[in-house]
Amino acid sequence: MGKVFFIRNTGSNYGKLGADALELLKRIVAETGHVFEKEVPIKVHFGERGNTTFIPASAYDGIIRYLKGQGTEPSYIETNVLYRGSRTTAADHIRTAKEHGFTQIPIVIADGEIGTDYDEVRIDKEFFKTCKIGKGYGKYKQLIVTSHFKGHIAAGFGGSLKQLAMGFAARSGKLAQHTNISPIVDSSKCTSCGVCVEKCDFGAIAIDDAAVIDPKKCVGCAGCIAVCPQGAIRNSWKGVNFLEKVAEYAYGATRGKDIIYISFVHNVTEECDCIGSPMKPIIGHIGVLAGKDPVSLDAACLDLVQKAAGKKVFDFGRAALAHAEKIGLGSAAYELVELR
Ligand code: SF4
Ligand code: SF4
Repeated sequence: MGKVFFIRNTGSNYGKLGADALELLKRIVAETGHVFEKEVPIKVHFGERGNTTFIPASAYDGIIRYLKGQGTEPSYIETNVLYRGSRTTAADHIRTAKEHGFTQIPIVIADGEIGTDYDEVRIDKEFFKTCKIGKGYGKYKQLIVTSHFKGHIAAGFGGSLKQLAMGFAARSGKLAQHTNISPIVDSSKCTSCGVCVEKCDFGAIAIDDAAVIDPKKCVGCAGCIAVCPQGAIRNSWKGVNFLEKVAEYAYGATRGKDIIYISFVHNVTEECDCIGSPMKPIIGHIGVLAGKDPVSLDAACLDLVQKAAGKKVFDFGRAALAHAEKIGLGSAAYELVELR
């Protein structure tokens, strides 16, 4: 059973939210005797351009000051997204992050300029034998993984497991979770420009009337998704055991790492911060939670959200918790310790 610390905070003051997150972090440090190493990245979600409900940079000010006071050099760390948007390449991703105010510390995009840099991490689980984790994560032993807990169209909810699974995976790792395994081409958008053919190192794309991907040759690197100027190539969602795969990638992301998890249950929207337009939250603000077991933490956040909603919102996402528990990532049972 994991211990989850909680500070209730129903206000919308981000400075206060950040102070609560820092208090929770200090509590975990005190309880576990955690000593920070020289470099500790903070995993965040910078928000897609146009999104207005992502956790803003100011919520991290207190944690950054604290880490620096401990003699640690913090950075923000992220990976590129699978789809075309304002965070598809490292250059665009960093530009979007800075536009959103994440300027306090350096930004590391762990899977390189177009999301193709990764290390294979062996896990030997049901759906994956290895996970493709952004190469930039390799040098860090300690991390602070923060999440904005909210809904997600495919995962039920987005919390710590989703941050680990998608946020640590290189583009091909994201694709492996999303599909079996080749992306698909929308021929109505394709202009037969051939940019994807040039990009594909595996000779998997040919131009007929439109681009055609040969699933026998495709290795799912997702490079073509990043370069198509028409946004004509996308991941396919058919029959993929997505939630179990998320759990296994989350497991892979944590191998060899010492991670403290912090989740902001704040502006709980039905969809994730990857949506590039304003969304109306279905629940306002509940508070901040933290712990060292991502499964316990997600379970606690989900229970609080469902209690506030008065119904079982996002409930199908519990399948990810069950699989995470089964493969030994953590425990869905938790002890909730409310600090005040
Ligand atoms: S890059 Fe996009 S538009 Fe160009 S051929 Fe490939 S799929 Fe079609
Ligand atoms: S995902 Fe990679 S291997 Fe597959 S078609 Fe696209 S560029 Fe080629």
